[in-house]
Amino acid sequence: WDWNAINGQVHRSQGWFRMLDYDINSFDGTVHTWENVIHPEDYKRVMEHFESYIHGKTDMYKVQYRCKKSDDSYIWIEDTGKIVKKDKDGKLLRMIGVHTNIDNIKLAQEKLFMQNELLLADNKSLELMINKRTTELENLNKELQEKIKEAEHNATYDYLTNIYNRRMFEQMFDLEVHRAKRYKHPLSLILLDIDDFKLFNDNYGHKTGDEVLINLSKFINDSTRESDTTARWGGEEFIIVLPNSTLQETYQKAQELCQSIENTLSYESFTITCSFGVTEHIEHDSTNTTFMKADKALYHAKESGKNKVSIK
Ligand code: GH3
Ligand code: MG
Ligand code: MG
Repeated sequence: WDWNAINGQVHRSQGWFRMLDYDINSFDGTVHTWENVIHPEDYKRVMEHFESYIHGKTDMYKVQYRCKKSDDSYIWIEDTGKIVKKDKDGKLLRMIGVHTNIDNIKLAQEKLFMQNELLLADNKSLELMINKRTTELENLNKELQEKIKEAEHNATYDYLTNIYNRRMFEQMFDLEVHRAKRYKHPLSLILLDIDDFKLFNDNYGHKTGDEVLINLSKFINDSTRESDTTARWGGEEFIIVLPNSTLQETYQKAQELCQSIENTLSYESFTITCSFGVTEHIEHDSTNTTFMKADKALYHAKESGKNKVSIK
């Protein structure tokens, strides 16, 4: 296009008409022809750009917009123009420019943009999915850790009294046996069993019996040294290992415990008492032998009237 700014006439090449599918020279050579083919949504932007250039606010005229074809569809074009003549006062006389069909490029760009958007959306949903899965896995892991902790606790502690269970006690006892051997210390054992506990349960119920077991285990723990270890050996049987304690000292200790249980623990008219078996671990005996000796002593205490201590 070639615009004469003095008389407003615009000359357009045949190519321009062909590009937009119009019959050659079917429009008059004014700027209105141009204004009429610009897409209404692009019009304002194009005019602002044009005005800026011709008033010297920008030093380049180059703008992309949509132009209407003969079938009323639009194609993207790039419009580039340049002032080629001014009078001595700087007034615009002539401007020449080119409309280039960039529709294919624009469509390709649009497609690319759409694809990019889709990819971003995919990425986003993938990210969301991963985040969700991560949270789920973290929660599962936490649950698993708690279960492991619980299992470890259950493997070590008695569920009712929360003192060591038999399994743990056996491990502890092995350690104490080694330690006693190394330092040539005595090592003793007390096995105790509640007297007539079946009767107690029958009278007051199993639940109250449970409370007695809990109270008794606390009582034993409070009555023994830090270095002694107490465990629940079986139903209503408890076991205590006393490192660095001779048979005689342990017998003494068991006597005191026997007495204090009788004096302290009762339920309604029922006095809780226990029978005790005391023994010392002899170096070359197996741990099993020691446990059996304690059991025999306990049996003897029961046989000879209960609420007493027997030594083996
Ligand atoms: P003995 O003086 O000869 O030891 O008599 P006993 O009645 O205590 O002994 P026996 O072996 O006949 O009965 C043991 C009772 O201990 C029966 C059982 O119900 C009770 N027992 C064992 N474990 C538990 C428990 O966890 N909770 C309660 N409440 N009772 C228990
Ligand atoms: Mg009993
Ligand atoms: Mg028993």
